[in-house]
Amino acid sequence: MKLIDGKRIAADIRAELKEEAARLEKRLCRPAGLAVVLIGEDPASQVYVRNKIKACEEVGIRSFAHYLPASATQKEAEELVCALAQDKNVDGILVQLPLPAHLDAQKVLACIPAQKDVDGFSAENLGLLARGEEGVVACTPLGVMELLRRSGVELRGKRAVVIGRSNIVGKPMAMLLLNADATVTVCHSRTQDLAKICAEADVLVAAIGKPRFVTADMVKEGAVVIDVGINRVDGKLAGDVDFENVAPKASLITPVPGGVGPMTIAMLMMNTLTCARRQLA
Ligand code: NAD
Repeated sequence: MKLIDGKRIAADIRAELKEEAARLEKRLCRPAGLAVVLIGEDPASQVYVRNKIKACEEVGIRSFAHYLPASATQKEAEELVCALAQDKNVDGILVQLPLPAHLDAQKVLACIPAQKDVDGFSAENLGLLARGEEGVVACTPLGVMELLRRSGVELRGKRAVVIGRSNIVGKPMAMLLLNADATVTVCHSRTQDLAKICAEADVLVAAIGKPRFVTADMVKEGAVVIDVGINRVDGKLAGDVDFENVAPKASLITPVPGGVGPMTIAMLMMNTLTCARRQLA
């Protein structure tokens, strides 16, 4: 078994992106810019936003942080995002989810134009991905692909199984694997014979949100196992994979923390630079 060190790979990528950001800054005559919108005081969201701003500083991307109180109205949220959509210094807009329950997140996200949609959540970007065309791809599944690529995992013709079908992880993950010529099966909460299907996977991606859900009997000897899950158990982080028992069977496996997590932010930086570069075209 070999560990996929997401923390190290993400640090390598940030170093590469720093050079790219400097080159772009010369061509744009300004730094690439990422606007981050946080509405409300959710403590986990505050940590995520802080980490994203820190990553911007490290890479040389200018960050524009906008905070609205939990009492913000739908109109205030939409007006802020629409203003950022017009702002020439802003190449990417990220609205930190979840939003307070009284707000319609889809309507707020709809104010982000596809060219500034660094999360790749828009219908246009998801549609481009489904057609195998160039758009912006959601950061977490994009990060998984980068981990696989940099670990030398061949996907063509391989059996890939994705557990989870959310719009932000499972679905784009399945489409990326399909675009890379894997034979892809998507499993979800209504799937029958889940363990049997998973045990056929050469590459198994778990994005469920249930701690230690993937057990050793669900994993083929020599499989590549990617754990997207982030769960809090007794104050500690746990993935969706029963790492201790699965790792001995896997040829490659990501830990939690230190696997997919750090890649998500690195890909956010990459997507911001991609959006900035496309401003030049
Ligand atoms: P989600 O709740 O939107 O989706 C979970 C999916 O799991 C659903 O499609 C559901 O059908 C499936 N599922 C639930 N129970 C199941 C079962 N018993 N059998 C099979 N499938 C089942 O969650 P999400 O937003 O896709 O996130 C999934 C996990 O990934 C969470 O733990 C989340 O915290 C984590 N996550 C991590 C990152 C990162 O940066 N590493 C980013 C996003 C999400």
